[in-house]
Amino acid sequence: MLRYTDNSRGQSKSDVVDMRTYLRKCVKCNAYTLKDICPSCKQKTEVPIPARFSPQDRYGKYRRELKLRIEKEG
Ligand SMILES: [Zn+2]
Repeated sequence: MLRYTDNSRGQSKSDVVDMRTYLRKCVKCNAYTLKDICPSCKQKTEVPIPARFSPQDRYGKYRRELKLRIEKEG
């Protein structure tokens, strides 16, 4: 189950998914870690999860709907 942060780490964004229990992956060297920052190259890590769970895809649905609407009307 995914949990949402509203009180931890002082983050006020309620739409930030708490990924602390998930394995993270360095975007640069592809190393797996549990930390936010890669221990070897200090790059930010991301959680390799299905896109539908990704906060970054939160508006993907709306983007696609908008695109469809534009294509239909245009
Ligand atoms: Zn790395």
